[in-house]
Amino acid sequence: MAHERLRLASLVIHGGQEPDPTTGAVMPPITLSSTYAQQSPGKHKGFEYSRSQNPTRYALERCIATLEGSGLKREQDVTGGGFAFSSGLAAMGTALELLDSGDHVIAMDDLYGGSYRLMTRVRERSMGLKVTYVDMTDPRSVEKAITPRTKMIWVESPTNPTLKIVDLDAISEIAASHSNADRRIITVCDNTFATPILQRPFERGFDMVHYSATKYLGGHSDVIGGLLVTNRPDLAERLRFMQNAIGSVMGPFDAYLVLRGIKTLAIRMRQHSDNAMRIATWLSGHPKVQRVVYPGLSTHPQHAIAEKQMRQCGKPAFGGMITIFLKGGIAESRRFLENVHVFALAESLGGVESLIEHPAIMTHASVPPENRAKLGISDTLVRLSVGIEDADDLIADLEHGLSNV
Ligand code: PLP
Repeated sequence: MAHERLRLASLVIHGGQEPDPTTGAVMPPITLSSTYAQQSPGKHKGFEYSRSQNPTRYALERCIATLEGSGLKREQDVTGGGFAFSSGLAAMGTALELLDSGDHVIAMDDLYGGSYRLMTRVRERSMGLKVTYVDMTDPRSVEKAITPRTKMIWVESPTNPTLKIVDLDAISEIAASHSNADRRIITVCDNTFATPILQRPFERGFDMVHYSATKYLGGHSDVIGGLLVTNRPDLAERLRFMQNAIGSVMGPFDAYLVLRGIKTLAIRMRQHSDNAMRIATWLSGHPKVQRVVYPGLSTHPQHAIAEKQMRQCGKPAFGGMITIFLKGGIAESRRFLENVHVFALAESLGGVESLIEHPAIMTHASVPPENRAKLGISDTLVRLSVGIEDADDLIADLEHGLSNV
């Protein structure tokens, strides 16, 4: 059966992968060689130097391209439009190189702090990029921000850490209505929180999907990586050139780890979503908690959009990230965070183990305080990455933490 026709739970295991032609190995070997022998100058088997081509990285790139449904054939791009980088930010940095100096980008106001820092403190200075941050939960704000120099719309949904949901259909329609033969606005979705299992940006008209593979795709908190996928042959050609020219590629060990992580992605996402839904519901009734933000709760302002675009096997599924606002102030937040033990107090997210963190002090410290205040990233905001442990143990741990507040 052609891989493209497999369902997602099968594609995570088989997508873009064939048993090794020489040995029949079912897992792609980790090819460490930095260089490859040629039969005659310029005559080789498609591999010259591992920054440019590496079989293990290719296996991961083919897997994510197939999983995402890029639809590109091998003749259009050697991995069908998948690209692997040394980190999520390295992937983003390469994606921004599709733009020219002075171009305008519209970005979600509540981007991951590091993405915001890369755009604002690096690329605005080094390539004269102009970035306008808007709250895309109202798509009209995107339309209003478009200028004749707008070349890219960078969406994150759900956002990190306030879990805003952006209507992907609405954004791609706006981009298309302002594109023409001279200027085609590139739409990119940072799909890190949802993964290809829960959210399908290409089916909603997007041109590119971005991942921090460090999170759910790797899934075990043991690798740093980034991925880009495109369904446009013109962008694939430019990214293939840029990936090699810039050189921030993923190494073969890391590619192997992400590929291995992806094999269980479908089953993990189901458990993350089930656990998070139970915990979010439980937290909503807790007297020490002021507010719970989880796209699966009917109280979430964009719950209807989340129900439409976040689904697993046809049913709504909302992933493992929960944001809560505690009653009290910074002292209460600290006491809570110091008194949970199954949840590890740590940055990052998306691993099998549960993590908890304080964005204002930890992951989003690079966002200026006035912006944090505008976005509602307050001292009582705590972010939970719900793992796949037994939900009863996680609830008992949170109860213990909250009883110390
Ligand atoms: N995008 C999102 C939504 C993230 O949460 C992160 C990291 O936390 C990144 C991008 C950056 O990825 P990396 O840390 O792999 O560079």
